Amino acid sequence: METPENEIFRDSIGTVNKDGKRNWVYPKKPSGPLYEKRKLVSYILLAFLFVSPFIKINGNQFLMFNVLERRFNIFGFPFWPQDFHLFVISMIIGVIFIILFTVGFGRIFCGWICPQTIFMEMVFRRIEYWIDGDRNKQIRLDKQKWNAEKIRKRLFKWSIFLFISFLISNIFLAYLIGSDKLLRYVSEGPADNLGTLFPLLIFTAVFYFIFAWFREQVCIIACPYGRLQGVLLDNKSIVVAYDHKRGEDENGRKKWRKNEDRKALGHGDCIDCFQCVHVCPTNIDIRNGTQLECVNCTACIDECDDIMEKVGLPKGLIRYASENEIEKKEKFKITNRMKGYIAVLIILTGILLGMLALRTDVDAKILRLPGQRYEYKDDNIVSNVFTYKLLNKTINDFDNVRFEIRGIKGTINVVAHENNQIIVPAEGFAEGTLFIELKKNLLKGDKNKLTIDIYNNEQLIETTEVNFLGPRSY
Ligand code: SF4
Ligand code: SF4
Repeated sequence: METPENEIFRDSIGTVNKDGKRNWVYPKKPSGPLYEKRKLVSYILLAFLFVSPFIKINGNQFLMFNVLERRFNIFGFPFWPQDFHLFVISMIIGVIFIILFTVGFGRIFCGWICPQTIFMEMVFRRIEYWIDGDRNKQIRLDKQKWNAEKIRKRLFKWSIFLFISFLISNIFLAYLIGSDKLLRYVSEGPADNLGTLFPLLIFTAVFYFIFAWFREQVCIIACPYGRLQGVLLDNKSIVVAYDHKRGEDENGRKKWRKNEDRKALGHGDCIDCFQCVHVCPTNIDIRNGTQLECVNCTACIDECDDIMEKVGLPKGLIRYASENEIEKKEKFKITNRMKGYIAVLIILTGILLGMLALRTDVDAKILRLPGQRYEYKDDNIVSNVFTYKLLNKTINDFDNVRFEIRGIKGTINVVAHENNQIIVPAEGFAEGTLFIELKKNLLKGDKNKLTIDIYNNEQLIETTEVNFLGPRSY
């Protein structure tokens, strides 16, 4: 089936030419109120990203994702592999939140919060504007022969790009292995830490490749979130949109002519100046409609508003709006689909909060030794053997741990521990074997549930239950 004329733009992407080669994008330097707001948001987020690994709460790194040692800190709370269920629920909540937000407000995340856009548009691109100049100067410089000016500018720009990529890799590493370890490696020098230096250089190369060359291709072809837009967006989603009803008449767009009365001539408000296209970092024409390549960066809104102001027409020809708002003047409202996502979000958040409230600093497991039943001892004493494992999730040592049976008289003997004392190091664990001994007359049958309190000195740190076996009573 042949593509309708007004849909032909969907057969190609703005960054690939007819021969299948890359169309390098030279976006015009954005300016305007939305760009200023985005700059501010970017500064805050960049500061957060760079500072977070160096903030400590109760001695815990504020954010850490140590996949190698399976240790995670989120907002200063340490999470262990034993807390994996909490991590999974948090991730699901995050994904549903992003879906909900996308259904309602399109790709706002990409334009305002995504690290790829922030680094590309607010760091690397701005350095490029500073060194190479705006769009036209960049095009000229690219076409010009390799002379002293071009070599100087290119070397300068690439060196700065490489340095920033190296810096980002270090921050990335601080999240991955912890800032303390990173700072220690830095002070020891690279020669003593070659095992870390090589991955660091590989990360640097990847970041350099992305920001110096791959650029908008990440959003267009690599990012899975970008590919999901087709299923998440609908006519009610608010996106960066061109108001074609206002911009065009039945004969399409008309160029601006000085002193003309466009209203009287029946022309739409788009003066076909192409500034919205020139400013676009993904090289699309938003006037064709919502497209997968649009990262909602708002540069075209600012640019078109500026043009409208210059020609004395109302702003907002390109603006945040839904398809239904433009077509039917329908205002934004919360749809049933969004209500469904909100309900799931509330339920999952409630479950997560409940689980967080019940979470303890200690994880204790006392299990009967497999294959062992019970043993009779002198004085009518029945003995069961157990293995225990104690996990200390805090940053303080437990230096005097002991077990006590709650509400029933009996003894607990920990194997090879003087005074039944156990030490559990900070963020570490202790394991071993223990015997529980009870008088036979205290048993209620062959299976007895016992509650074991675990103390560090006088502080109760965890409670767990065990199954104590005894002889059958007939
Ligand atoms: S910037 Fe505005 S007026 Fe100019 S082409 Fe784009 S939509 Fe039309
Ligand atoms: S169409 Fe507009 S909002 Fe979308 S990426 Fe291009 S400039 Fe940014």
